[in-house]
Parts: sequence; structure tokens; C-alpha cells
Amino acid sequence: MLPKKIEDAINLQINKELFSEYLYLSMATYFAAEGLSGFENFFVVQAQEERFHAMKFYHFVNERGGRVLLKKLSDPKTDFASIEEVFQLSLAHERFISKSIYELMDLAIEEKEHATKSFLNWFIDEQVEEEASMQAILDKLKLIDGKGQGLLMLNTELAARVYTPPVAL
Ligand code: MG
Repeated sequence: MLPKKIEDAINLQINKELFSEYLYLSMATYFAAEGLSGFENFFVVQAQEERFHAMKFYHFVNERGGRVLLKKLSDPKTDFASIEEVFQLSLAHERFISKSIYELMDLAIEEKEHATKSFLNWFIDEQVEEEASMQAILDKLKLIDGKGQGLLMLNTELAARVYTPPVAL
């Protein structure tokens, strides 16, 4: 049985993961409008990953006899000043999510909830990758100054990203 405190905190985390899906989908539509279909694809795949994160928490709560309660999602940002700004915001968002997962882990430790601790380890490792992937693209954008042929090459590179579920649910 999941302690109530942890159930509530995970329900909040599910909202954050679903909001992440919403935010990245909003970024995808920005790139669709800009005619950068590779960047659009990168964020469509990113949004799919976020849904996977939400569902991983969803199944964990159900499995432990808790109840998932879905809450309202905030409006995602829809306008961006530049491509670089999109990735800066994405990196900042992933750092916020990492912090949120650390807080969940702190709570699991405090409550001596070993099953939750073990479950959260996957997310802690995943967040290292999430932050690194946003940072890597940000670095490339700076190198090419966010324009020209370099931008088109990056667009082609990002078009190749395919969604693959990290592990079976
Ligand atoms: Mg996530």
C-alpha cells in the first residue's frame, strides 16, 4: 500500500509529466509553423516520451493500490522568440522535473518507502539523459549560430529521431 503522502506527490508528478507532453507538443507546433519538420519531429517524439513517463507513474500507483487523480493542465507557452529559446526553456524545464523527482526521492527516503525508491531510480537516470539531450542540441545551435546550412543539417538530423519506449510498461 502506498502511503497517502507519496500517492499525492506522485499524482502531482503525473500532472507535471502530462504538462511536459503538452509543452513539447506546443513546441512541435511552433516548428511545424516555421517549416522545420525535423525539429517538429524531435518534439513530437519528446512528447511521446513524456506520456510514457506519466503512464509509468500511473501504473505504479495502481499496482501499489493507490488511486490516480488527474488534475487540470496549465496552458503551455505557444510563442517563442527563437529556436535557441525553445531549447533553453526545454533544458530549464527538464532541470525543474529533475528537482521534482529528487524531492519525490527525498520523501520516499523519509517515509522508508523502499519500493518507491527503487522505482524512482529509473527516473533519476532518465533525467540525466533528458537534460543532456537538450544541452547537446543547445550546444550545436550555438555552434551554427542557429541559422544557415548548419541549421538545415541539424533539422535533417532531428528528423531521424524515432520514438522507442525505453522499457515495457
Ligand atoms: Mg519526463
